Amino acid sequence: MEYTVISGTEMNVSRIAQGTWAIGGWMWGGTDERESIRTIHTALDKGINLIDTAPVYGFGVSEEIVGKAIEERGHRDKVFIATKVGLEWHNGSVSRNSSRDRIRKEVQDSLRRLRMDYIDIYQVHWPDSAVPIEETARTMQALFKEGLIRAIGVSNYSPEQMNQFMSASELHTVQPPYNLFERQIDRDVLPYVREKNLSVLAYGPLCRGLLTGTMQPDTKFTGDDLRQSDPKFQPPRFAQYLNAVQQLDDLAHKRYGKHVMDLAVRWVLDQPGITAALWGARHPAELEAVAGAVDWNLDADTRAAVDQILRETIANPIGPEFMAPPTRNSVSA
Ligand code: NAP
Repeated sequence: MEYTVISGTEMNVSRIAQGTWAIGGWMWGGTDERESIRTIHTALDKGINLIDTAPVYGFGVSEEIVGKAIEERGHRDKVFIATKVGLEWHNGSVSRNSSRDRIRKEVQDSLRRLRMDYIDIYQVHWPDSAVPIEETARTMQALFKEGLIRAIGVSNYSPEQMNQFMSASELHTVQPPYNLFERQIDRDVLPYVREKNLSVLAYGPLCRGLLTGTMQPDTKFTGDDLRQSDPKFQPPRFAQYLNAVQQLDDLAHKRYGKHVMDLAVRWVLDQPGITAALWGARHPAELEAVAGAVDWNLDADTRAAVDQILRETIANPIGPEFMAPPTRNSVSA
């Protein structure tokens, strides 16, 4: 495993983190608690010491599973738990709320579910236009000063929103979507975080499974699986993305004797400014592939070949915008 330090802290985290959205079950077709706990223990055995969760993942279920897994294993001080704040849910529908009162309530709920007395990295999940960013930031800074959280993060924020946040609080981490097929942050967020020296926890490095190489044209998703409404998984785009995956797999084999999944995660880790990739495994066996992604680098020629494949195969690229929860009326409106 590769390790690196979170900016402005002494946390030496693994560059591959365990993501636990799917482990929460909601929007991923359900979950199995024992299998999920075994997955987290397998991640720890493989040297992964950073676990990302959120209250909204399974409406508390993911945090509870993470809490049980860490309590069973012990050594709380050897793991870094990243969770989030600022989304609420009513009858299965999710809305944003980053107000002071909401954050104060949520931090206690998360600590209870996680069975912990501090959170290592506390991240505002989505910007909330109905609350002044400074109010959110000041509340996060207060939690930090009180020792309830050990690093402050934001997720899905633009550079302008981060600037506003940093006028009222320290900021250590940023969590944006990033993978071979979703590179919007190249334009603004990545240059910004490099300049400000913030740590980046990149989510969706496997593009919700698309970049694992295991999907076929007739792969079906059932229940509440979000990929039923993910535009990348619908015709005609699905065929284009699968064609890209096939060509990337061929390239990885030819150049390195590797698999497309190795190449996809390595590509994320090699991008300047990226701290860690959040790997959404929910079965222990899925973590076998982690070894193929660490301790090597892509050369410049291969990176150029990757870009060429993407240009030639994907006629209508589309981002992950479909995942954004509804926005609220702006404070200034
Ligand atoms: P991801 O890691 O790109 O992909 C997860 C998918 O990869 C799952 O469908 C899983 O398959 C599949 N997978 C993993 N390892 C595999 C293997 N070895 N072989 C075959 N398939 C494999 O996407 P993600 O879960 O959306 O993102 C990762 C994490 O980022 C989340 O868990 C969460 O912690 C975080 N996240 C944050 C935000 C945010 O707004 N801040 C948004 C999204 C995600 P199965 O379905 O078959 O298990």
